[in-house]
Amino acid sequence: MQAGPMAGLVAGSGGGAVVMVRVIMLSPPGAGKGTHSRWLTLQTGAAHISSGDLLREEVARGSDLGRQVASYTDRGDLVPDELIFRILAPAVVTAARNTGGYVLDGFPRTMPQALRAAQFGADLALTSNAVIYLTAPEDELVSRLLDRAQRDGRADDTLGVIRHRLAVFARETAPLIDYYRGRGILLELSTNRAEADVQADLLNQLQARGLMSPRATEPGPDHSGQAETTLRNS
Ligand code: ADP
Repeated sequence: MQAGPMAGLVAGSGGGAVVMVRVIMLSPPGAGKGTHSRWLTLQTGAAHISSGDLLREEVARGSDLGRQVASYTDRGDLVPDELIFRILAPAVVTAARNTGGYVLDGFPRTMPQALRAAQFGADLALTSNAVIYLTAPEDELVSRLLDRAQRDGRADDTLGVIRHRLAVFARETAPLIDYYRGRGILLELSTNRAEADVQADLLNQLQARGLMSPRATEPGPDHSGQAETTLRNS
């Protein structure tokens, strides 16, 4: 698939074109990746692709692949890159074809994944245009995840597994921060403040890079009635 030169352009407020968001959400567990990905999806119409959701769906299906996935996710270990690509790649291609953009929530999270995603993006003219790095103090991350455990009952939201996931982030995923900073596409935001403040900051930073129409928060012809587009791998 080759996207044409206009691919990913959407109408801006002044009739000009802004580039459709193709962003990676990069953050430790509990920093607000899911929440802010869903918000950005509603604002832009870009597809939300959550690696964790796709993996949990595979587990819920009870397939052989799902059982393999659960043997990693239940312990808080990363699922091997090959399995991740098998599950995610079709979703990303479909998303980009349907919406011209994407919000990648939870992928890539190892250097090999990042390098392969960059190659994949270049081949398909779907290169990411921003990486959103969300931060919060570690005790805040742990307390948010323990709160979520009460509400959602996720198998990996127990204190021991949460601590392990944070250590895995520091070891496997944190190197991506400098990698994307070096490529000049990293946006860093603290989520240790009101959600509305985080969203306003995010909007400003995306607009400053020509990635979002200044009217994106108001109902308009591009986004009115737009339901969240969450892609499933089926
Ligand atoms: P969190 O960010 O809170 O850990 P996610 O829903 O993003 O939650 O991920 C849940 C689990 O799914 C991870 O702990 C890991 O086991 C697995 N996972 C998600 N995305 C990836 C990925 N890109 N590579 C490897 N494993 C992943």
